Amino acid sequence: MLDKEEANKTSDQVKKKIDIPSIVKLTDLSIILDEPVTEIIKKLLSNGVLATINDNIDFDTAAILADDFGFEAVEKKLESIDFDTEDNEEGEIDKRAPIVTVMGHVDHGKTSLLDYIRETKVALSESGGITQHIGSYQVEYKDQIITFLDTPGHAAFSAIRAQGTKVTDVVVLVVAADDGVKPQTVEAIKLAQAANLPIIVAITKIDKPGVNIDVIKQQLGEYGILTESWGGKVPLVEVSAKTGAGVDDLLDLISLISEIAELSARKTGRARGIVIEAQHSTKVGQLATVIIKAGNLVVGDNFVVGGTYGKVKALQDYNNKRVKEALPSMPVIVTGFASEPQVGDMLIVVSNEKEARNKAADNRVLSTNKIIKTKGALEVLVDQIKSQKVQNLNIVIKADTQGSLQAITNQLLEIKTDRGNKIIVITSGVGNVSESDILAAAGGSAFVIGFKIRILPGAIKMAQKEGIKILSYDIIYELTDDLTDILIESVGLKRNEEVMAIGEVLKVFMSTPKQKIVGVKIQKGEVKKEYLFRVYREDKLLGEGSITSIKHVADEVEVASKGDFGFSVKIDFKIKEDDKVEFIKVEHSKAKII
Ligand code: GDP
Repeated sequence: MLDKEEANKTSDQVKKKIDIPSIVKLTDLSIILDEPVTEIIKKLLSNGVLATINDNIDFDTAAILADDFGFEAVEKKLESIDFDTEDNEEGEIDKRAPIVTVMGHVDHGKTSLLDYIRETKVALSESGGITQHIGSYQVEYKDQIITFLDTPGHAAFSAIRAQGTKVTDVVVLVVAADDGVKPQTVEAIKLAQAANLPIIVAITKIDKPGVNIDVIKQQLGEYGILTESWGGKVPLVEVSAKTGAGVDDLLDLISLISEIAELSARKTGRARGIVIEAQHSTKVGQLATVIIKAGNLVVGDNFVVGGTYGKVKALQDYNNKRVKEALPSMPVIVTGFASEPQVGDMLIVVSNEKEARNKAADNRVLSTNKIIKTKGALEVLVDQIKSQKVQNLNIVIKADTQGSLQAITNQLLEIKTDRGNKIIVITSGVGNVSESDILAAAGGSAFVIGFKIRILPGAIKMAQKEGIKILSYDIIYELTDDLTDILIESVGLKRNEEVMAIGEVLKVFMSTPKQKIVGVKIQKGEVKKEYLFRVYREDKLLGEGSITSIKHVADEVEVASKGDFGFSVKIDFKIKEDDKVEFIKVEHSKAKII
């Protein structure tokens, strides 16, 4: 006999099984089902679900759709790309150039120093020199190549470092001789120390008159940077980007440190590299500067980078010269991305386009899952903020695009309460939440809001350490709704008082240090037990306390109005006949959004 299940199986036999992730973007589902995305949206609509092409749907919904299109959906286990894991490819190991990042306080001379080195030490290519700034360059100094990251911003540095892959080998900490250690110097020190990177201190602007280096050395010592003349191990050079003094000494030090470190990498096999800059060009589409960490990247390679993928169309070196391959420590402009990659993400070469696309889709799902997980932080945050009673709410916002960042900021700035409380955006930007965002939040007693972005592992770690909360969203109104609630909660309750009744003490029946029983003549109004009992003598306030019971003649009552009543009150001061009493209703109200 054929049971029901068997019968179904027979009729469904033609259905092909397909793998669908637990959360899938409609555009990805369209590829999986091989149906136009418009058909999928129509089908969803007929099932009562209003969706746009950028929306994610869960497996159950996707399974119903798949069924409608004649497939049997099987939930797919995610194959995660762990960006933090070591490179397992086989290949020939060789020496590689050190990668140097210059960090320090604004206006301390980072750009000038990098420009000076670039102008005096970079050999221009035959193709006619530098035409486009690419965020990194290489110099050849005494037969050694040094790669400089020419993006003197902490954000870029920590976004990259937070991926757990050290793109940088050495940090040059720039401190202006005439200004000393400043907040961003400290931030740079913290980032370098957290990354466990060797530091070289470069005191810049030494051509300026009357500078005192000893003071700076002492300031640095306070942050654990003990320079050689202070009995420590951190090398220090004095430089000037104006005269060029000391620049060769700096390059010598970099060479020395990298020689000691014996930097090496695999130079054959599939490449891995880190995105340090992403740009869009109307001519060639999406491009990015990538620093190769291992392997060799060649034209035609398929790759995955976080949630996006691509195929290398062309490679250009830092001189804008076309090259066929890129080797470890080399900065290279890559064209051929399907969409904009995030700075700090690792580019990993895979076998073919299908693998690249699938892995990118998996990464997007993983980051969506991460967003869902972090939502639970809201309750904790509200509790934490409530106790602080702030006037305004300080936040750091990171979003996926400039457009969404603008839209969110505009909406948030409109949120105000009837007591003048508002949301203040202390820092904002496009890209993943990185360690420097956490530091910015920590410095401004703020918390971090992410919109359609990932939270880099290093940032999560630092947030835990600094006690900074991160909230992540992918729907604007949920973000604004939550922030409105947080603002209302965080500014606290306002106490309102209203005098509901007045009276006069007729007699004190009993008096202990903390409790009194008194007869009071109510002259006006009505008294309830929850009101405050406030006492005056000759217009001077004596104090106040709570009411534990009200009696009229011998009976306990809830409400007292005009006439004589007995009150049992908790007050810790002496009270006597003829004292005046006010009965006060106290209410706590929340702020209102206007
Ligand atoms: P950044 O913000 O750290 O990149 O600083 P900049 O490189 O833009 O330099 C800030 C200012 O300091 C500019 O006006 C530079 O001309 C000046 N400056 C930078 N380096 C030196 C230097 O070595 N000597 C002197 N005298 N001025 C310098």
